[in-house]
Amino acid sequence: MSDRNRIAELRELLHRANRAYYADAKPIMSDHEFDQRLKELEALEEKHPDLADSNSPTQRVGGEITGGFKTVRHAAPMRSIDNTYNEDEVRAWCDRIAKNLDRDTPPTLIADAKIDGVALSLRYENGDLVSAVTRGDGEKGDDITANARAIRAIPLVLADSELTPPPVLEVRGEAFIPFKEFERINAEREAAGDELFMNPRNSCAGTLKQLNPKIVADRNVSFVAHGRGAIEPADFCESYSELLQQLSALGMPTNQGVVVCESIDEVVAAIHEYDTKRHDAPFPVDGMVVRVDDFALQEVLGSTSKSPRWCVAFKYPAERKPTKLVSVDFMVGKSGRITPRAVMEPVILAGTKVQHASLFNFGEVRRKDLRLGDTVIVEKAGEIIPQVIEVVQEKRPKGARKIKAPMECPACGGPVEVEPPELEEQGDYESEQETSRLCVNPECPAQIREKLIWFAGRGQMDIDGLGEKTIDQIRESEIPLNRFADIFALKDHRDALLLIERMGEKKVENLLASIEEAKSRGMARVLGSLGIRHVGDATARALSREFPDISALLRADEAQLRPKTLSRDDAAKYGFDPDPKERPSTNLGKDTAPAVFAYLHSAQAKSTFDALQKAGVDLASRDAQENANRTHDAFFDGKKIVLTGGLEHFTRPDLKELLESLGAHVSGSVSKKTDLVIAGDDPGSKFDKAMELGIEIWDEAALLKRLPQDVKEKAAESGLFRGR
Ligand SMILES: [Zn+2]
Repeated sequence: MSDRNRIAELRELLHRANRAYYADAKPIMSDHEFDQRLKELEALEEKHPDLADSNSPTQRVGGEITGGFKTVRHAAPMRSIDNTYNEDEVRAWCDRIAKNLDRDTPPTLIADAKIDGVALSLRYENGDLVSAVTRGDGEKGDDITANARAIRAIPLVLADSELTPPPVLEVRGEAFIPFKEFERINAEREAAGDELFMNPRNSCAGTLKQLNPKIVADRNVSFVAHGRGAIEPADFCESYSELLQQLSALGMPTNQGVVVCESIDEVVAAIHEYDTKRHDAPFPVDGMVVRVDDFALQEVLGSTSKSPRWCVAFKYPAERKPTKLVSVDFMVGKSGRITPRAVMEPVILAGTKVQHASLFNFGEVRRKDLRLGDTVIVEKAGEIIPQVIEVVQEKRPKGARKIKAPMECPACGGPVEVEPPELEEQGDYESEQETSRLCVNPECPAQIREKLIWFAGRGQMDIDGLGEKTIDQIRESEIPLNRFADIFALKDHRDALLLIERMGEKKVENLLASIEEAKSRGMARVLGSLGIRHVGDATARALSREFPDISALLRADEAQLRPKTLSRDDAAKYGFDPDPKERPSTNLGKDTAPAVFAYLHSAQAKSTFDALQKAGVDLASRDAQENANRTHDAFFDGKKIVLTGGLEHFTRPDLKELLESLGAHVSGSVSKKTDLVIAGDDPGSKFDKAMELGIEIWDEAALLKRLPQDVKEKAAESGLFRGR
């Protein structure tokens, strides 16, 4: 098959796989297979730049969005829907609809789940996604097209064998983050020492505001369509139910639980019925939307200035109950963050016993003016974590004491720091603006305990048998377990391990075997497991794609940690493509890169890495090795190369030696057989000849980009390479 045909076939297959997964919920290939095919397509597209297509499945993630989001006007306003928490109001609305339409009973109504996410308007022209805009104020919203493209649930192309997409089709719908993904994101943020999102909606809104679409792609944002904006021609469909059918046929995910209601009683029954099921939904649902199905009747009913008259949202009330705040305890996380947590008299909310609620930070405690002994209102909506909503001021006991934020770490007595830094500078430890309070003692036992639990856990170093309880038991025994490397020395304490309660021969055997196995997980896993601030799983993986091992990472400049945001000059200097789109993303930006750099070069990090290395933990990157091998084979082995002009980073004989070590033949004159000419400053006649013969010519920057990272590092060490 020709490359051209294979490209077309792969694009079609990947669009179809995406659709099968998100719109039809019937996957046709595994994630692994999807990734393989995507890589194959990427390689082919790289070979054939003339066949580029901005809606290819490879084009989901673009470069960083510079200068923020543009505000754009909606072609048709995005009105919000009237809310009610009251069943009688829903009945009254149905009556009003019937009356306004001059009928005895309401027309066909459709009820569907109201997903609690972020409303978007997607514009397709002849089936191609051209823009995505947030609701904003209903008239104007933010253009977040680059981010929407990174959401795999949003089709880049609408297609169906029988139905031609109309010239203009604006699809309105909800972007949302499923609970599982929300938990995963927060676990990662916790590990990286970032502030946690309060709920899935809040995490979705935060994600869509990112200026780096890569971050959006790394989070599993989902989308369902639930409405329309401008459509040309207007007769594309005549009712909401028909719209959903057509959209679904075109590959757009739509809401599955749609209920057709022919009477007011059926509407109320649908609302009651869904109330029993909504807690099982994998995403946050806060109500039901009821609307007139027929578009012509919708037109007749019209809109008020705020919202359409043909539609109403019934919201399930979040369950709220009063209880008493008994005390506030302070939890110390693995990054040292001290989080206040309310301890309350137990209440049953949304079917579960609630006794604790995170108070997030001390600024929040002060804004709510919480005092010990207060009666507080606690809320739990479905799967959402319980929250303290407010204080019942009238019930405050006399002399109720304010909650004092600790000035020392409650676990180790070490010093604390307050954020944002302005507060710390002003010495203001009582501000409502406070976003976090951190124990800065790296030896803090509470942090160490949390870090060890995280390090050994699922998805990190995956050490079976080293859970929270076992870690506590070992730490209570005489066996030292204060740093990561101590885990790998547990094999020297076999006898002491056997003395621990319920540890038995077999358990110890399995534990030690699992620890041995964990040594070879490689650099990305180790970095992602250390709980380094700003370095979550995705960043760890990105860094390990960039650097062959820890020592290469430690030799890197701070600028090299953030290739996407490098200036063109710096990019060339460090051997990256001047085009930011072509550069790898480490997920680190101007603000986070210096912090990570500082950590990597701290005495603490040095001793951690040294100790791990000594313990035999593999700190080399699997990705970089693969890349290096591939680069070597594909580019330099057997190539006939000619050098000309003055080079900045190499002397010519040194570069000759280096290229020859990679399998290239470096010769002195250009001929038809020459594969590649590397031209520095003031290149001579060799350059002209190469031009004449149409031979590929690289400048030094292009060469630096192609040279495997480990080769560059080794060259620098042996003095071959005149430095970076
Ligand atoms: Zn501490």
